[in-house]
Order: sequence, then C-alpha cells, then structure tokens
Amino acid sequence: MVRSALLGLYKHSGLMALQSAVRRQRGRTRLSIVLFHRVTDAVPRDGLTVGIEWFRDFCALLRRSYRVITLAEAFRYANDSQPIPPNTVAITFDDTYADNLPAARILADHRLPATFFASTSYVGSERSYPWDAHLPKMPNLTWDEVREMASLGHEIGSHSAEHADFGKIDAETARRELTESKRILEEQLQRTVRWFAYPFGGREHFRPEYLPLVFESGYQGCVSAYGGFVRPGMKGQILPREAMPYFRNLTHLELHLSGCFDWIYACKRRFGWKR
Ligand SMILES: [Zn+2]
Repeated sequence: MVRSALLGLYKHSGLMALQSAVRRQRGRTRLSIVLFHRVTDAVPRDGLTVGIEWFRDFCALLRRSYRVITLAEAFRYANDSQPIPPNTVAITFDDTYADNLPAARILADHRLPATFFASTSYVGSERSYPWDAHLPKMPNLTWDEVREMASLGHEIGSHSAEHADFGKIDAETARRELTESKRILEEQLQRTVRWFAYPFGGREHFRPEYLPLVFESGYQGCVSAYGGFVRPGMKGQILPREAMPYFRNLTHLELHLSGCFDWIYACKRRFGWKR
C-alpha cells in the first residue's frame, strides 16, 4: 500500500516527467523494446505470463500515453544519431504460444504493431518447452494462425528452428538454425523475415562471434532478452529488450518502462537477489 502510494506520488508529482526532460536535455534519449511470452488466464501469472485483462489495460495505456513503433522503426532509431521522442516503445513476443493469436487481435484492436518471434520446429507441433513441464499443456500456434497474425499487420521474426542455445552450439549449427528458420518462415508467410531474436536471450546464450552469421544469413537485426534501453548510435549491435513480467498495477509498469527501477534491479543483481 505504502509502496504503491509512493510510486504513484513519484509519477504524479511530475518527478518522473522531470527526469525524462533532464535525460532529453543531456541528449540521452532512448526507447524500450518490450518482450512478452504468454497472455493467458490458464496458468498463474509469472515471469512469462500476464493475464488477458491486464494485457488489455496495457494496450489501452500504450495507446493513450506512449508512442508505439514497429521493430523496423526501433532499428532505424538505433542505426541513426537522431534523438528519440519520449515514451517510445516497440512490442515483441517470443516462443509462439497459441495464446499469442488473441493477444495479436487485442493489439490490432488498439492499432498497436508488434513483432512475434517463432521457433519454426514448434509451430504447428505438439512439442512443448522444457521449462513448462510443471504446467498444463501450453499449445503452440499453427501456421494458419501465424499467417493470421501477419495479416493483422504484425511482423513475424525468427527465434531459430529448435530454440537452440547459441551459447552452446557450434558455428555450423548456428548457421543452420539461422538459415533454416528464415527459409521456412518465408516459405510459410511469403514475405521477407528481417529480424532474429536469439533464444533464451541472456548474455551467456549468444557468442559475439556469431553476430556476423546473423547478417550473413540475411537478417537486418538481432535482439536479446537482457534488459536495457535502445539508444541512438547502436548500429550493428544486438538490441536489448525489457521482459514484461506481471505487475499488479500499471503504475509499476510505467515506472519499469521509465527506468526508475533500474537501480533496484542493479542492486538485486549486485547482491544476488532474484529479479
Ligand atoms: Zn524463447
């Protein structure tokens, strides 16, 4: 209660807006690429799951108070030196759970673009991810559903073929994961696949020497899942994304997007507390 009140005060007193203005004054503009996995009420909220009503509120908030851009525009800002307008956000999803289709429709209802990253061997299959072993079956999207998402105006990117850990595989396997998933997606969707989100997304899950392979395979950009903001001048780099955990209220979410919690997260990492 007290914490929520303090956070609300921070936001509504104008302090949050002041911090944003100071950042702009210093030329330190930035955007966030947010990352979702599941939007469902079938399993409890966790680090990968938000509820459907929560997601509707999120979309309404973003429609109302944020400037939501496509991933292509996010890469354009990263590749350039122009300042980024405040409250700029791009929306992405990983792992193509079946609940991503209704989420894609909610996004489209709010006229919000998003990019969905698919691991091709999971689409249309009965396979499930090992980390979901304790949950009821979480179905995957079919190819028809992925095509419907694309027809709603969303973009589809590659999340590899096998959801491979690029920190552990050899270069030849990495190249195959990149090219095969791109080929299959393009065949299924009949459109160019431009972006790659490497699986697991931590710094330890990708070898820097594999980044040239991403571009050689025909991708125009690569994203991770370690947190951080995208700033102008990050051309050729892996862009960070902010995983979207469930927050009990949207003020928490807004503060998360504002970067206000970054020092708390840094302390937690520094002292080994879990985020
Ligand atoms: Zn993944």
